[in-house]
Amino acid sequence: MSGNGIVIVGAGHGGSQLATSLRQEGFDGPITLVSDETDVPYHKPPLSKAFLKTPDMAPQLLRAESTYTDNAITLRFGARVSAIDLQARRLELDDGAPLPFDRLVLATGARARRLAIPGHDLTGIFTLRTADDARALRAAIPAAQSVAVIGGGFVGLEAAASLAGLGKQVTVIEAADRILGRVLAPAMSAYMAGLHQSLGVKLLTGTGVARLDGANGRVTHVTTTDGTHVAADMVIVGIGANPDIGLATQAGLACDNGIVVDGALRTSVPEIFAIGDCVAYAHWQTGSHLRLESVQNATDQARHAARVLAGKPEIAGYREVPWFWSDQGPAKLQMVGLAIGTTRQVISGTPANGAFSIYHFRDDRLQAIDSINRPADHMLGRRMLAANFHPDDALIAAGPAALKAAFAEFSKGQPEAR
Ligand code: FAD
Repeated sequence: MSGNGIVIVGAGHGGSQLATSLRQEGFDGPITLVSDETDVPYHKPPLSKAFLKTPDMAPQLLRAESTYTDNAITLRFGARVSAIDLQARRLELDDGAPLPFDRLVLATGARARRLAIPGHDLTGIFTLRTADDARALRAAIPAAQSVAVIGGGFVGLEAAASLAGLGKQVTVIEAADRILGRVLAPAMSAYMAGLHQSLGVKLLTGTGVARLDGANGRVTHVTTTDGTHVAADMVIVGIGANPDIGLATQAGLACDNGIVVDGALRTSVPEIFAIGDCVAYAHWQTGSHLRLESVQNATDQARHAARVLAGKPEIAGYREVPWFWSDQGPAKLQMVGLAIGTTRQVISGTPANGAFSIYHFRDDRLQAIDSINRPADHMLGRRMLAANFHPDDALIAAGPAALKAAFAEFSKGQPEAR
């Protein structure tokens, strides 16, 4: 490496973790962390939860600002990278002087999808991805009475629960026939639907949004594709996020719903790596390329890339068990593993009591566990999946204590399970 060191584009969960992990792994060259946001890197999950409900809450920092300076990490905040000059090995920045690099890591995350229908540009329509988005949304909450949330995915439903908790009239409009249909089994979707209804949230499923209507430039209601009018002086668009691959495609890196990386998190150009929401990687369980949007994925990939970039010898390809959580009203939903391609489910606990887990199997192999208010099941599940432990139905039916004991027995003599 020459003296330009490692430049990281994006200072979200992945970029911030990578910068500090590089030092922990012993990398002693220059590290520059570039972000187009002006905030010191912060936790995104609270933005749709506590942050919305707490008027004076500041974004929760991922790590103290002094951590970066103490670790000789150069910060370039409020600076957008506009292009990668591969030949010259440097970045073009919107705010002036180009930035040379020896190795580059793209940690650019994802951007909230926007609606492209009549009325999309009215005042009162929000997306939720960054602290600035959340500040703008929060500032508008006191004046809003009725809120339409477009999209029944995680971010939309978290915001819906938060706003219902503030006494707003909330309607969620979901085009599919059930909320969280892409990511949850029908039994879990049904539980979450009941939970939202108990919070006073109205759910409209199986209908899209035709247009947004307004008066004097402000949104007043949403018209659905089946002709229903939903009163809304605030609209939250929660229709997912697209990977931020603009820089990568401009530089000619291979992309396929995300920047394609190998097991070392290296892109199709050897000196460029990518991590987090912007990445598509071949998952060991599915064999196909997959893009995950979660704090775990961004931070674990950052730790892995740090080991590779610091030159740690002979590490295996990235192979972490994915996990995720979502807090919606009183429900803590936790997911571990990948339920894609599973063929049957076993339920432990009682949904009616608000605490249960669904174990997803492909034939006899446990692939994923989704839990509501059963954090111990989730934590044990992480260890079981990492250790390749496959309980049978009778063991799950015997309850958490028996499962834990059987796993402890299995683990004796095994290489240490995480
Ligand atoms: P990000 O954190 O998005 O960071 C990418 C950064 O790169 C951004 O700051 C972006 O502005 C910057 N950037 C992009 N392009 C450029 C450029 N050209 N120049 C300079 N900077 C650039 N996950 C969970 O596991 N649990 C949750 O409960 C949960 N809740 C969430 C709630 C909300 C409201 C949101 C938005 C996300 C939530 N997530 C949750 C998802 C999680 O936050 C993301 O998976 C995670 O932030 C991904 O980290 P990342 O580093 O890949 O991307």
